[in-house]
Amino acid sequence: MTPGIKNMDTSPAALDVIVVGAGVSGLATAFGLARRGLRVEVLDAAAKPGGVIGTVRRDGALYETGPNSALDTTPLIGELIEAAGVASERLPASEIASTRFVVKDGRPVALPMSPGAFLATPLFSPLAKARLALEPFIRRQPADEEEAIAHFVKRRLGREFLDYAIEPFVAGIYAGDPDRLSVPAAFPKLHALEQRYGSLIVGAILGARERRKRAETAKNTAKSFSFRGGMQVLTDALARGVGRVTQGAKVVSLSRLADGSFVVVHDRDGETLTRHARAVVLSVPAPEAARLAYPLAPEATRALQEIQYPPVTIVVSAYRREDVTHDLGGFGFLAPRVEGRAVLGTLFSSSMFEGRAPEGQVLLTNFVGGRRNPGLASAEDGELLEKVAAEHRALLGARAPALWNEITRWPRAIPQYEMGHLGRIARVAEAEKAVPGLRFCANYRGGVSVGDCIANAHATAESLGAWLRAPVVAR
Ligand SMILES: Cc1cc2nc3c(=O)[nH]c(=O)nc-3n(C[C@H](O)[C@H](O)[C@H](O)COP(=O)(O)OP(=O)(O)OC[C@H]3O[C@@H](n4cnc5c(N)ncnc54)[C@H](O)[C@@H]3O)c2cc1C
Repeated sequence: MTPGIKNMDTSPAALDVIVVGAGVSGLATAFGLARRGLRVEVLDAAAKPGGVIGTVRRDGALYETGPNSALDTTPLIGELIEAAGVASERLPASEIASTRFVVKDGRPVALPMSPGAFLATPLFSPLAKARLALEPFIRRQPADEEEAIAHFVKRRLGREFLDYAIEPFVAGIYAGDPDRLSVPAAFPKLHALEQRYGSLIVGAILGARERRKRAETAKNTAKSFSFRGGMQVLTDALARGVGRVTQGAKVVSLSRLADGSFVVVHDRDGETLTRHARAVVLSVPAPEAARLAYPLAPEATRALQEIQYPPVTIVVSAYRREDVTHDLGGFGFLAPRVEGRAVLGTLFSSSMFEGRAPEGQVLLTNFVGGRRNPGLASAEDGELLEKVAAEHRALLGARAPALWNEITRWPRAIPQYEMGHLGRIARVAEAEKAVPGLRFCANYRGGVSVGDCIANAHATAESLGAWLRAPVVAR
């Protein structure tokens, strides 16, 4: 027995796969592998499965500490929900949630949803609207020249579209900085539109036809959904479906035996334990994947260490309905950087989904920090709550203090797909080739949204399942 390690398992691999991390990426991968009849165990350091997905009930309200909804962008999402047995729990966002606001000159302005509304909106000046007519004639960027999204949007659509359309959305999705996010890595579909059609406008029209053929939906038209019991319904169901999910198990090292199988060492309840498997999927954040992969794939480690995660703090606030003047008829608002607000954006959670607040109350979910304002994400509770309450007074006409607030801090929230990201991911892919049976599947790769994580998990389960089933001689 190795000194200091109890329960050292040196038998031929008892498990086919160990998945490290029980966020949606790891759980959906494990679920896919288990459905293929493979013996899978998930090890996760936290007390509950779900990773950043978490639903909490308080005083008759239901709120999220991570993602509030997912977008139905691919049929793979519906298939997974069906297979996990929670399709009847699924809850579409309300009709009014299709209205989204952007703050302009200190007030929330509805984003235009039709050509007529676009011509009338005060969000963009007449000059900015007229400038759009030039877009189809602007030269495409050479395919091999990486560009930041801010530069891309200014070049193709003009400065106002960056300030009042793209920058706030970038903050809403990535909590990111448009001057650093890479178009091909973070917005591959925009990149593909320009490369393929030479124009976003022409590409949007022609691309819609092609998506219909593939039964896919663009992110700007896909429907948002959650579950009656919140987003955690999905990850809880996946964990039940996998069966062998061990919480409180922090994986501390990874090594390989001469036969190519893996030894995974983890700490649990003060004990150091090992598991042994033919393959390992690392579904943990990039810095943790870097640390674990170091002995096997030092090049991937260096690439993973370069991926940054800015902090985001969520403040959930419950108000009496009559204390908020704004009708909250929408999904919520995003606050562009140029408006200088304390929040990145606020979701009108009780308008998005039924059953989120008790009768006579409303629930707001506020996002603070990100690349734009990392210091405020770590401000102490009193200062944070005062800054958020001031925004409610100014932007939503709150006339009394919130009934209660809850704060969730994510010191490392969302991976940034910044310039050079695709090169980093290429090095991770090379490590997968060099170390057969080792896979990296988490939100720093292939998209950060819940839907992207599900699609990537599906692909990982499919390819790893095929590899494990292939005759040994074929490897
Ligand atoms: C605040 C916030 C709001 C968001 N809002 C939305 C939204 O509205 N819609 C949307 O589509 N997406 C949203 N996202 C993005 C999306 O939720 C995430 O990208 C996705 O859930 C990440 O899943 P994951 O499994 O890749 O990683 P994670 O959820 O981070 O899971 C990683 C897991 O690894 C475990 N782990 C780490 N180290 C170890 C170790 N050494 N040993 C064992 N286990 C370990 C952790 O405990 C964790 O469970 C949001 C993200 C955040 C943070």
